[in-house]
Amino acid sequence: MDDGQSIMSNSQGTVGDCQLSIVNCQLSIKFGSKEIVFDLEYQERKSLGITVHPDRKVMVKAPVDASFEKILEKVRKRAPWILKQQSYFLSFEPLTPPRKYISGESHLYMGRQYRLKIYDSSKDTVKLKRGFLEVHVTDKAKAKKLVLDWYKARAEVKFPEIAEKWIVRFKKYGVEPSSMIIKWMDKRWGSCTPKGKIILNIELMKAPKGCIEYVIVHELCHLIHHNHSAAFFEVQTKEMMDWGKWKERMERVMA
Ligand SMILES: [Zn+2]
Repeated sequence: MDDGQSIMSNSQGTVGDCQLSIVNCQLSIKFGSKEIVFDLEYQERKSLGITVHPDRKVMVKAPVDASFEKILEKVRKRAPWILKQQSYFLSFEPLTPPRKYISGESHLYMGRQYRLKIYDSSKDTVKLKRGFLEVHVTDKAKAKKLVLDWYKARAEVKFPEIAEKWIVRFKKYGVEPSSMIIKWMDKRWGSCTPKGKIILNIELMKAPKGCIEYVIVHELCHLIHHNHSAAFFEVQTKEMMDWGKWKERMERVMA
């Protein structure tokens, strides 16, 4: 039983504010007394796909041209299954425990695993060395901050370096980002503002180069098309044939 109610909320941002979100938008349906919240993402695909993740999040992938009505109707039909999956996952511990920033943990950098090694030292430094992420600290409590600052510093060097050739390629469309902002974000890999500012998530520094390129290309396409229309995907595919592969890889690595 459901009352046919639906709520649509943009996951932040205004119309024309283009963003490559981890979610494109968040929707919810009422099913009996339960509410099912799900992230909606448009993709080049033929049919609707529903996934319930171990953290009980529901992800719906829809064809680019699917209407909201159609999507809500399909999700409603699958509601009993979604609720069953959610209660199944409820009995499990989280898959990836939160990082503690202690020796022995593995951390990702550009798609590779590095084992964290913490050393007592007279000064604070972080560097990659033969499969290890070596952190020299004056105070072990500072290890987390040092590592996060290191990711940020790497992103500030790497993102512009990786973006350069793509920015040059997109000049033929008469577009160019006005600036690039690099920061930690919770819910999206990248976004861009109506004024052409491209914002990239430092978290991307953990992904392979192809994934970083994909996010940059995606945002550059938004400088031409401020939506996820067929025309948008046409440019994205023209510039980066294998974007689908990198998108999938990113979702797997960064989950
Ligand atoms: Zn987008």
